[in-house]
Amino acid sequence: MANTRTVTIINGDGIGPEVMGATIRVLEALKLPLEFDHRDAGTEVIAKYGTNLPHETVEAVLRSGVALKGPTGTVVGGGMPSANVGLRKRLDLYASLRPVKSVPSVKTRYEDVDLIVVRENTEGLYVGIEHIIVPGVVESLKIITEKASTRIARFAFEHARKMGRKKVSAVHKANIMKLSDGLFLDCCRKVGREFPEIQYEEVIIDNLCMQLVKDPSRFDVMVMENLYGDIISDLCAGLVGGLGVVPGANIGERTAVFEAVHGTAPDIAGKGIANPTALLMSSVMMLDWMGLTEESKRVQGALQAVYGNGKLRTGDLGGSATTREFTDAIIAAL
Ligand code: NAD
Repeated sequence: MANTRTVTIINGDGIGPEVMGATIRVLEALKLPLEFDHRDAGTEVIAKYGTNLPHETVEAVLRSGVALKGPTGTVVGGGMPSANVGLRKRLDLYASLRPVKSVPSVKTRYEDVDLIVVRENTEGLYVGIEHIIVPGVVESLKIITEKASTRIARFAFEHARKMGRKKVSAVHKANIMKLSDGLFLDCCRKVGREFPEIQYEEVIIDNLCMQLVKDPSRFDVMVMENLYGDIISDLCAGLVGGLGVVPGANIGERTAVFEAVHGTAPDIAGKGIANPTALLMSSVMMLDWMGLTEESKRVQGALQAVYGNGKLRTGDLGGSATTREFTDAIIAAL
């Protein structure tokens, strides 16, 4: 097929192959000029490769520039970093993007939630530089750099502009961490001046949490350093029904990895009852990112039709549909 593009597919562990299988069935039904290159990562492939992130998988993503990934498990207490952290580091996926939108007829406290969380993915406390000063006293370093803060601020404003959004809120605790969060804010302010059409505000993280649960419509695009972003992303997912219905992407200068934000769900793995919505919505983000906007709208429309109809739900949302029945309904609605 002319202009066929390759997408690297990483099934992952647990329910990963089930939700990925469902997503690929939907993408194949669209008859897109895409070719799927299946690669391994996760705890289940450690015995085969001696690592959860084989070199050839990273090379494949570098070549294709785009990957769709299922959840990967973590070795608890082991020395091996998670495959997710490994991918983020090796591909320099500096921006985590989490759009959070109400799903039709999934009942939550608020209707019409429409937020975008932009999280800096490479530094902050997540650099993991910790040491014992003396027994009983541990120091953990939070690294904030002008380069990474400017890069994430620019990403947030450019994304806001691209999506026609009106406001960017920089989230911080600079009243206490005056130097580190202060530098982050300085960078956001400087970049913000290049985007006069977009309103800019600064919100202290604890106040943001309260305001978000009181009235999420007060916010639009939010940009923040790593730890705050980790927490706020999940708080926002909770506003629309949890991790099963929100997509995610980790984006770098040259590559992007789209993935569901939920885990491997070991309690339901292999039963054929996982909800593929989050990974399907991540594939919608991926299609948009690849410029396949018509097709992305079709998948979005099908998801809305199936949810809007209110009849078919997987077990996590109180229904009894299997992954296959849910996916069949999406394909029928395309
Ligand atoms: P989890 O998200 O796997 O499960 C939490 C609960 O949500 C479970 O009851 C599970 O059945 C349910 N659930 C999650 N996704 C679902 C889906 N698509 N459909 C229906 N139900 C769903 O979280 P956990 O149990 O804390 O983590 C399990 C493993 O996943 C751990 O090893 C963790 O490190 C890993 N994890 C990976 C990622 C990732 O790769 N992006 C993210 C989070 C956790």
